[in-house]
Amino acid sequence: MFSKVLIANRGEIALRVLRACKELGIQTVAVHSTADQDAMHVRLADESVCIGPPPSRDSYLNIHQIVAACEITGADAVHPGYGFLSENAKFADILEAHGITFIGPTADHIRIMGDKITAKKTAVSLGIPCVPGSDGEVFDVEQALEVAKETGYPVLIKATAGGGGRGMKVAHNAEELSEALSTARSEALANFGNDAVYMEKYLGQPRHIEIQILGDGEGNAVHLGERDCSLQRRHQKVWEEANSPSLNEDQRMAIGEICAVAMRKLKYRGAGTIEFLYENGEFYFIEMNTRLQVEHTITEAITGIDLVNEQIRIASGAGLSVTQEDIRFHGHAIECRINAEDPSTFVPSPGTITHYHPPGGLGVRVDSGVYQGYKIPPYYDSLIGKLIVHGRTRVECMMRLRRALDEFVVDGIKTTIPLFRDLLANPDIANGDYDIHWLEKFLAAKADK
Ligand code: ADP
Repeated sequence: MFSKVLIANRGEIALRVLRACKELGIQTVAVHSTADQDAMHVRLADESVCIGPPPSRDSYLNIHQIVAACEITGADAVHPGYGFLSENAKFADILEAHGITFIGPTADHIRIMGDKITAKKTAVSLGIPCVPGSDGEVFDVEQALEVAKETGYPVLIKATAGGGGRGMKVAHNAEELSEALSTARSEALANFGNDAVYMEKYLGQPRHIEIQILGDGEGNAVHLGERDCSLQRRHQKVWEEANSPSLNEDQRMAIGEICAVAMRKLKYRGAGTIEFLYENGEFYFIEMNTRLQVEHTITEAITGIDLVNEQIRIASGAGLSVTQEDIRFHGHAIECRINAEDPSTFVPSPGTITHYHPPGGLGVRVDSGVYQGYKIPPYYDSLIGKLIVHGRTRVECMMRLRRALDEFVVDGIKTTIPLFRDLLANPDIANGDYDIHWLEKFLAAKADK
């Protein structure tokens, strides 16, 4: 096992990783920008190193500084959390060249899945069902028209280097296609430095369902069921559930097994998520994330398995602590992403938290790095915490969530907590009857009132 892990992240996820390390008896090193010297993970870590000024590119994305921090402190492994350098193959390579373990998959697997066209081709070769679309990159309008003839309209043009829900354009007919193609290309170049795009059939009413997997890198892999992340705003997840209200046990085990088999073939190492759109009983692969996800907590709630502990075990060569037969799903869990934002306009609301009281009690977990008196810096993502609630049934889970939201006090800034109260009061949400477009429509209707 490692003796010292450096946590190359900030906020709630840095704290989450720190907790797993402490339980394993591993020393921790926090790295932070000058804006984060008072952050909770910095206070709780055994050691901390300031790695630069507030902008992420100068600190949390600064590979040289992070490697230097490893050398100064003698850390033998790095956990990248999510975002920042977590899916950066070069970072994984550089750490390895310095004899430091990257707690994550191989650099090759990060590369394969990081390029969406290669990821899709790999998924097809591993027997994972995909959205119908172009066979690789689309170069010109003639080719795009041919693809659209096959799939039918509407179609979606996506950047192969895309991420975070950006770099996508819908075309409803042949007339719109040419313009969508050129805008998608120039936006992809501007955002990701790569203008390669591909095409998919645009699904009208899908749900977003993703499968959590763990692999040991030697050909053993398990799945931990699904998460339903259909409630999205601007392609960003807002509320997640496990299990999905739309799948039964047989469907769950069937798609889970397809993913586990694929990961065994790939000899995948570490935690990963295979994302699908789900419509009319069919699954369509959209991408794989080769890292821990924000919403990993709901899988932990229903399986009782600590995913960060598993990541660290696997990276140290200790393998998986469970077999597929050991994994059982208990009850229902929901995660609400609490952002420091206006709940109606979603304008970020940084500032000082004057009063803070997180909810507690049976089945309630709050993952957050904030505390009373903490000043939220304006430089980073507005996620300040996650409320995760577990119940024996979905109904019990929702009753508990309502109670937990009522207890939650965050004063001094605006948060998205009121949005979740509104969602809980809605009959579609109560019935689990929503797709990936539901939340945008709900918010638009609310804005009109
Ligand atoms: P990113 O890496 O930017 O998150 P994804 O490929 O994971 O991109 O897609 C993000 C979201 O965009 C999905 O959750 C879904 O809401 C929407 N989306 C992606 N592909 C399609 C498609 N073929 N049809 C309809 N919606 C899609």
